[in-house]
Amino acid sequence: MRMNTDVLIVGGGLSGLALACQLQTAQVDYHLVEARPWFGGRIDTKYVEAGGQKGYFDTGPTWFWPGQLRIEKLIRALDLTPFLQYADGELTFEDEQGQVMRGRGYASMAGSYRLEGGLSALVDGLKQQLKAAHYSLGLRVTALQQSADKITTTCIDADQKEHSIICNRLVLALPPRVAIERIQFSPALPPSAKEAMEGIPTWMAGQAKAIAIYERPFWREAGLSGDAMSRTGPMVEIHDASPARGGPFALFGFVGVPVAVRQQNSEALRQAAVHQLERLFGPDALNPMELIVQDWACEPETATPLDYAPHYNHPAYGLPHALANLWQGRLIFGSTEVAPNFGGYLEGALEASEIVLKILLPS
Ligand SMILES: Cc1cc2nc3c(=O)[nH]c(=O)nc-3n(C[C@H](O)[C@H](O)[C@H](O)COP(=O)(O)OP(=O)(O)OC[C@H]3O[C@@H](n4cnc5c(N)ncnc54)[C@H](O)[C@@H]3O)c2cc1C
Repeated sequence: MRMNTDVLIVGGGLSGLALACQLQTAQVDYHLVEARPWFGGRIDTKYVEAGGQKGYFDTGPTWFWPGQLRIEKLIRALDLTPFLQYADGELTFEDEQGQVMRGRGYASMAGSYRLEGGLSALVDGLKQQLKAAHYSLGLRVTALQQSADKITTTCIDADQKEHSIICNRLVLALPPRVAIERIQFSPALPPSAKEAMEGIPTWMAGQAKAIAIYERPFWREAGLSGDAMSRTGPMVEIHDASPARGGPFALFGFVGVPVAVRQQNSEALRQAAVHQLERLFGPDALNPMELIVQDWACEPETATPLDYAPHYNHPAYGLPHALANLWQGRLIFGSTEVAPNFGGYLEGALEASEIVLKILLPS
């Protein structure tokens, strides 16, 4: 395949998809390439059927919050339904010795919102708006070459076949660290730009989530919210992850074990997670119908080894000066990590796409 387009968007996560929809509405000639065989990037909802019910379980992002107006508007436009994080009942706390205490506070994510159908419903809604001729799934960008007034992009498909796309402007709607680690830039980017890209942490990229799925919400029946904080682990923070209505029901936790350790013995991690749930929520927790462990650090389209170190605070995001106006303004950054106000979040992905649209279509 050899193709020409005005704007090439690299990355079909929320930021790339939202931008593609806006360019389509504005009748700009664009093409969107996504390395994975599906859209969504860090958004990934798994569907599990049990007892005649189909549950949806978010393995990436879960929540959005009041005051995030772009995501609220998108949810309305797609006619989707938000619901409040389940938060009735007591929080459970496990100390360093594995001693479990109840009634140590309320659910820590009370007031946060989730989406009926899971957050992939957003992705599906956006995808449906795109014309199939304007996107390619399973096409990985490996190299970018700038010439006088164009950028030539080399991509490979699942069969390792090479394709070339020539564009006037290119939007990197993927984490800057992934871009600099996995894409070859020719001519090479200035050292300040390379350093800036490596210095932007990809939000949550080093995280793993474990989701245990059950037929009954036995913790709710026992007056527990499903929220737990643990200093023993392997999960450090646990929440109810059940669908808005009906089952199957679920608890999910963020795994606090370092990347190298959890990758060495994933079976031991799974067993330890279930035993921890038993300590916190009782013997009913011992036999989940399914246990999903999603380790984002193992996903080359999301994480690089620089992301393995944990963050203790939300990083300051926004576009670093060194990344503005590269390749005569043809190379544009557009993932959540460059959003100035909501960087790192879903809202930031939409904020970034809005800013890129203004660059591409100045009024
Ligand atoms: C475990 C976890 C929990 C989270 N929790 C929350 C939460 O509760 N609330 C919240 O607001 N945010 C949360 N986030 C963050 C949220 O997921 C991100 O802000 C958002 O999904 C980023 O979207 P994006 O499109 O900017 O980037 P991404 O989703 O990373 O999309 C980038 C896309 O680029 C593609 N790509 C990569 N390399 C290439 C290549 N070479 N060629 C072509 N395509 C490529 C990738 O496959 C991907 O689809 C969480 C993230 C994780 C991982």
